[in-house]
Amino acid sequence: MLARARQLSWRPVKAPLNHMRLLFLEGRLNPQGPAIFIDRDGVINHRRAGDYVLSWSQFAFTPGIRQALRELALLRLPIIVISNQSAVGRGLLDASALETITRRMQEALLNDGTPIAAVYYCTHKPEDGCICRKPRPALLHRAAADFCIDLANSVFIGDSDSDLRAAEAAGCQPVLFGPGLTACSDSAVWINGLPVAASAKELVGVVSKLLNKSTVNPAAPTYAPYGRVLT
Ligand SMILES: [Mg+2]
Ligand SMILES: [Zn+2]
Repeated sequence: MLARARQLSWRPVKAPLNHMRLLFLEGRLNPQGPAIFIDRDGVINHRRAGDYVLSWSQFAFTPGIRQALRELALLRLPIIVISNQSAVGRGLLDASALETITRRMQEALLNDGTPIAAVYYCTHKPEDGCICRKPRPALLHRAAADFCIDLANSVFIGDSDSDLRAAEAAGCQPVLFGPGLTACSDSAVWINGLPVAASAKELVGVVSKLLNKSTVNPAAPTYAPYGRVLT
């Protein structure tokens, strides 16, 4: 699996909505399979308090997340990162630097045995009023169109209110990661009852259980690039 994934090229794509889309896997996937969507800052890597991740040296994986992602990769579902990166729109980070950080992250995870299928970034400022910034679901919809994903049977792992709301808006199952909503969150009331993975250790169990409950059409195997059919 790893050898095959390594052959695939990294390919930044200029997307018409002016978001950034980085595809790491080629090929049309089989239709209507679920995906594992995941936020970046605060889930894959530490948030920087009051600041942005502006270089690879500032990118620190959260404890246990690499092992958790490695185990989730065994489900052979596309793992797709959905992230707001307004530092680009604010002029603090240029797109090529964000691409470099992303490539380094993808390479590190691939070395672990965790292929990331794609990364979608909204690079706008909140005040731009774009359609792609979470909690809006446009990036999830875009990924679903690119990879023929069945959103209703997918999960979205995030640490903030905007992640959970984007998941809800797209019809995905939200999973709250971490000890609680982050400081950026505007409301904690509505998340009562949503699945929570307080740590990376809990993440695999929580996500696997949710995906096992989903209805997957056995006639529509998912994620051909990894050569396994989800039943
Ligand atoms: Mg986050
Ligand atoms: Zn946007």
